[in-house]
Amino acid sequence: MESEVRQWVRQARRIVALTGAGISTDSGIPDFRGPQGVWTKNPHAEKMSNIHYYLADREVRKASWQNRLNSPAWSAKPNPGHMALVELERRKQLHALITQNIDELHQIAGNSAELVIEVHGSMRRFMCWGCGMRGPMQKVLERVRAGEEDPACRDCGGILKSDTISFGQQLVPEVIDRAMRVAGEADLFIAIGTSLQVYPIAGAFDIARSAGAKTVIVNAEPTPYDSMADAVLGGSISSVLPSLVNSGTEPDLIRAASPNSHFRGRGSA
Ligand SMILES: [Zn+2]
Repeated sequence: MESEVRQWVRQARRIVALTGAGISTDSGIPDFRGPQGVWTKNPHAEKMSNIHYYLADREVRKASWQNRLNSPAWSAKPNPGHMALVELERRKQLHALITQNIDELHQIAGNSAELVIEVHGSMRRFMCWGCGMRGPMQKVLERVRAGEEDPACRDCGGILKSDTISFGQQLVPEVIDRAMRVAGEADLFIAIGTSLQVYPIAGAFDIARSAGAKTVIVNAEPTPYDSMADAVLGGSISSVLPSLVNSGTEPDLIRAASPNSHFRGRGSA
């Protein structure tokens, strides 16, 4: 099965990847919903992700800012799974990268921002609920570090939050439309580390499949789409993905395959 998928990857011209939390767990960022997830362990954490509680309750916001300050994502580095998608872009095979993740590890790994479609936004930016202003999250975190418990917008006094889609908040229609459009343009659609249970974005799988794309699922746990996919691969994403992309058998080939392998090897170490 895996060697067949490797051949599809080699031959594809417009690969669209859809990534979820599973690609970042090997970078030390916990999956919020999984059995070891933050929400499963701490039900209060879910309140902080709900826009209604967040806007209504200063205590929820104070706790949220402390959470953001201490997020494991700030020190997280891309893993070989992310690097495999960079390699696909380098080979000009990657048409688009739709991600449910908010950690920006795809861009940090080296994928172009233009190719990455962030359906849930980014934790590395803040936004003002009042005036819509956006900027780098670290600027607000500096204020929290300096003692502000719930920093307000310096322009309008409004409530600040991370520029991510909280529960109870609308997705951005233009972003979702773009994700669905590129899914329909794929000749190979790979869902990676996503349970494919969050709509509407899971529907990208159907759109790609109906448009004639080969479909591959790489995920540790079963998904509702497994029976429809052309191939389903389990196991660790950070070893499966490099092996799919590099047509060899060793995950380490991602380094050997790169012309500037010395640099890349250090980056992913
Ligand atoms: Zn504002």
